[in-house]
Amino acid sequence: MKPPQFEYEAPSTIAETLELLDRFGDDAKVLAGGQSLMPLLNFRLARPAVVVDINRVRGLARLDIGPDGVRVGATVRQRDAERHLDVAAANPLLAEALPLIGHFQIRNRGTVCGSLAHADPAAELPAVAVALDAEMEVQRRHGKRTVPADAFFVDALTTSLAPNELLSATTFPIWRGGDGWAIEEFSRRSGDFAVAGAVAVIRLDGGVCAEARLVAFGLGGSPQRLTGSEAAIRGGRIDDGAIERAVVRAREEARADGDIHGSAAYRAYVVGSLAGRAVRRAAARARAGTAS
Ligand SMILES: Cc1cc2nc3c(=O)[nH]c(=O)nc-3n(C[C@H](O)[C@H](O)[C@H](O)COP(=O)(O)OP(=O)(O)OC[C@H]3O[C@@H](n4cnc5c(N)ncnc54)[C@H](O)[C@@H]3O)c2cc1C
Repeated sequence: MKPPQFEYEAPSTIAETLELLDRFGDDAKVLAGGQSLMPLLNFRLARPAVVVDINRVRGLARLDIGPDGVRVGATVRQRDAERHLDVAAANPLLAEALPLIGHFQIRNRGTVCGSLAHADPAAELPAVAVALDAEMEVQRRHGKRTVPADAFFVDALTTSLAPNELLSATTFPIWRGGDGWAIEEFSRRSGDFAVAGAVAVIRLDGGVCAEARLVAFGLGGSPQRLTGSEAAIRGGRIDDGAIERAVVRAREEARADGDIHGSAAYRAYVVGSLAGRAVRRAAARARAGTAS
C-alpha cells in the first residue's frame, strides 16, 4: 500500500514547526511516531498536502520529572517513558498503562503525545490523562495555552487542537502518596487495541473512600468519566457490596457504540466488570499505601 503524494517538511525548531502549521493549516499533518498516521495515509483515509515531521525538532524529546509532574515532550516514545527508571515512582498509573499499548515494536516509535493527539477511543493514554487531570501544552505560532485533559478530548479521533497547533508536551501529576490506582482492559489478543477498558484512582481516608475517579475507554467516543459509579463508592468503605453497586452504575451510564468487535450492550457490560476490577485493585493499593 502506498500513501498519496505529499510534500515532506522536517523542521528543526519549534518556531519553524509552528510557522509551517500556520502556513498550511488544514492541509498539514504532524508526523510523530507514524504508528497511526502512516496507516491512515496508506489506506488513504488522510490526504494531507504536507507532512510535518517533528522528529528532528530540538527540545521535544525530553522527559522531565519535577515537582510539577512528569512532563513528556512531543517526541518522547512510549517505550522510553515505559523504561524510564523514575516514571513508575513518579506516576505508577502511567507506568502501568504504557506496556498495554500494542506491541513493543509499536511503542518503540509511537509517542505519548501522538497517542493523545490521535485520540483513538480504544487508546489507554487518553483515559489515563483524564483520570489524572493531565495538562496538555498546546502551541501555535503566536501563542501557547494549557488545556486540561477533559477539555482536550472532544470525540473519537477529535481533540480541541486546531490544525495550526502542536501538542508540544503533556504533564502528568506527581503521584500523591496513598492514592491507589489500576487500569484494566479486555482485548481479543495480547497487543490488540482494547475492546473496552477502565481506569481507577482512589483515595482512602480512615478506610473510607474520600475520592474516586473512574474513567472508561474503548466505548467509541472520548474517554468517559463514570461519575455515577464514582458516587456509588465515594463516602463509604470499598467492600464487595460497594464494588457491585459501582459495576451496576457503570453498566447503566456507559455510553457505548457497537462495532464488529462487540455490540454497545456488550461493551457497556464489559466496562462495568472492568471498572469493578479496577476499583478492587486500586482500593487494595490505597489500603496498602495508607497503612504504611
Ligand atoms: C498494530 C498497532 C497496534 C496498536 N495498538 C495500540 C493500543 O493497544 N493502544 C494504543 O493506545 N495505541 C495503539 N496503537 C497506536 C499507537 O499507540 C500510536 O503510536 C499512537 O496512536 C500515535 O502515536 P504516534 O506518535 O505514532 O503518532 P502519529 O501516527 O505520528 O500521529 C497520529 C496523529 O496525531 C497527530 N499528532 C501526532 N503528534 C502530534 C503532536 N505532537 N501535535 C499535534 N498532532 C500530533 C498526527 O498528525 C496524526 O493525526 C497501535 C498501532 C498499531 C499500528
